[in-house]
Amino acid sequence: MTRPSSAQIDLTALRNNYQVARRLHGGRALAVVKANAYGHGAIACVQSLQSVADGFAVAIPGEAFELRAAAIHSPILVMEGFFDAEDLRCIVEQNIWTVIHQNSQIDLLEAADLPANSLHVWLKVDSGMHRAGFSLDEIQAIYHRIKRCSAVASLTLMTHFARSDEPDSDATARQIASFDRATEGLAGDRSLANSGGVLAWPAARRDWARAGIMIYGADPIPEAGNDLKPVMTLKSQIFAVRNIAAGEPVGYGAKFIASRPTRVGLVAIGYADGYPRGAPNGTPVSVDGRLTQLIGRVSMDMLTVDLTDLPEARIGSRVELWGNQIDINQVAQLAGTISYELLCNVKRVTKIYI
Ligand SMILES: *Cc1c(COP(=O)(O)O)cnc(C)c1O
Repeated sequence: MTRPSSAQIDLTALRNNYQVARRLHGGRALAVVKANAYGHGAIACVQSLQSVADGFAVAIPGEAFELRAAAIHSPILVMEGFFDAEDLRCIVEQNIWTVIHQNSQIDLLEAADLPANSLHVWLKVDSGMHRAGFSLDEIQAIYHRIKRCSAVASLTLMTHFARSDEPDSDATARQIASFDRATEGLAGDRSLANSGGVLAWPAARRDWARAGIMIYGADPIPEAGNDLKPVMTLKSQIFAVRNIAAGEPVGYGAKFIASRPTRVGLVAIGYADGYPRGAPNGTPVSVDGRLTQLIGRVSMDMLTVDLTDLPEARIGSRVELWGNQIDINQVAQLAGTISYELLCNVKRVTKIYI
């Protein structure tokens, strides 16, 4: 028997979620496929979305070059932009769009010998997140400085939100107002909304969305009841079963002590596959479609679940760690992280595309 652990990727759900994002936002939407499409496999996801998506966004130049090498001809935006002159040369050569967020990038652009009208620039405004981007008071001058470069074919104005997944905070509304004030009168498309912006902030819906986590069906604002379907189902099987007496421990550090005679199922997946080691006793797991829970520390290659109330479960029983039955947001919250990190950590398991 080969190791029965896999990440099943539902490409129909991916396309549907993208369409939900695009429809809600209005205008056009880039599908964000950085970090190997949040762990789902960038090339397969892009190939599947190509016929419906307006374009794609990645974080770094290398991710864009990989897509071009796989014969993807759609628009691709690099959201951190180029790091050096060689990156910039390749970006132009491969017709990739780039963000410019700091002065050193403008210096490189001004020094480069590039064909006229060869580069589409997305100019990043720091409207309050204070991570990357030009400050509000310099954006008008920066815009005109970039516009003077003959290589620049178009300028799109963008910003990014720090708290768009918090509908009760006014931080996003303040960022939108700051962005609008600072960019007033400047020609060009606007792009404000990530998933949280698309879902919760109608005022952020402009020319281009940049939708990431929501297209993978991990809703950043689950209370809103959006029609998103999980794309990834992380699966394995029970591959051993044992019975222990009340009072006996399970696993490293004896983090679980049986309070009753307990039937323990061993599952063929661990933190080396991307299941979070921080998941505590009680984290939900589904076995043959029935809900049970993680017991004991997650190991590198396996983990243990409570089968005491599932007498029919046996070797070969199917286990879901997250997907349609187990909400990844719940696992992430219990493990002290977010769905984004769980998804992009998935590795070693076979990806099965349906
Ligand atoms: C990752 C990223 C996104 C997508 O964010 P989600 O919350 O996953 O939708 C959008 N814009 C920028 C600049 C990003 O870095």
